[in-house]
Amino acid sequence: MRRKSRPVKVGSLTMGGDNPVVIQTMWDKALTPDLEEEKKALSRMAAMGCSLVRFAAPNQKSAEHLGRLAQETDIPLVADIHFDYRIALRCMDFPIAKIRINPGNIGEAWKTEEVIRKAADKGIPLRVGANEGSLPKELRGAENRAAAMVQAAEEQLDILEKLNFDQAVVSLKSSNVEICRTANRLFAEKYDYPLHLGVTEAGPLIPSLVKSTLALGDLLREGIGDTIRISISDSPYKEIMACRELLANLGLGTVPHVNLVSCPKCGRTTFDTHKFAEEIETSLYSIDKNLTIAVMGCVVNGPGEAQHADLGITGMGDQIALFHKGEIIRRAPLCQANEVFWEELEKLR
Ligand code: SF4
Repeated sequence: MRRKSRPVKVGSLTMGGDNPVVIQTMWDKALTPDLEEEKKALSRMAAMGCSLVRFAAPNQKSAEHLGRLAQETDIPLVADIHFDYRIALRCMDFPIAKIRINPGNIGEAWKTEEVIRKAADKGIPLRVGANEGSLPKELRGAENRAAAMVQAAEEQLDILEKLNFDQAVVSLKSSNVEICRTANRLFAEKYDYPLHLGVTEAGPLIPSLVKSTLALGDLLREGIGDTIRISISDSPYKEIMACRELLANLGLGTVPHVNLVSCPKCGRTTFDTHKFAEEIETSLYSIDKNLTIAVMGCVVNGPGEAQHADLGITGMGDQIALFHKGEIIRRAPLCQANEVFWEELEKLR
């Protein structure tokens, strides 16, 4: 059972309510004049299952660029604004689908109020919330970190609610798994705002996957969470792949998913499964069909252990063999592994 959150419209998608958990990532570079490169990257992210992309907008120039990008792409974009309320106001002219602000660093109250009023006029949601590492001064020494994060978020929501603004999405992030889980549970007991889940500064791939799976996995299993980002010190594509895996393995995925199984290799290997799996992995997230793909090192165990696979590839001496449901369907020299694999996969799409 999912927690009942209020639906909030973010551009063309709706977050919360009965809607599926939204996968999002963050653009990891500064915006450049190369709009085409960014549009291409956004299309690829969308094809991989990402529904929302956040961009830092540190100045007016980036707001102009982001605005143009938002007008030329289908995927909703979020502008991440700190300090200068005028950047948020400009972003809303285009409009950008969602604005992330921290009222605590915008300055005088009237500046935040201007942003809230314009967001209400334009029907643009605001993401607010708290990061454990940047709590307001008066809460920094709090012993109960999770409660302090909720209090910080409440203080921001008070500002919004005083102006009758109810289209907020809230995030409560910590790099500590337990604090992250507890803060989100506490908040979910009291409010119905959609929750954006994430472990902040989660680290490189492996530490991030472990921390994010523990924190987000538990919360999602409890029905908490309307949108997720798995923050990784790696490319946004890896973040999307991690989100896809998490949702698919929790039974919360809504797009067809390719389940990639591969063997770790051992002394019987005649095929480099590590290299091959890495080469094909990213492309599999753009396939619009539920499939199981197996990459196995040897014919002794490969086709047998992966007999559930719709398509498998395994080493066989100086050849590779392709198999379907445990039966070998094709053999080829090792050097043609990639080519024949994609040919056979194409037949299943
Ligand atoms: S499939 Fe073959 S190569 Fe891979 S781990 Fe099993 S026995 Fe080793």
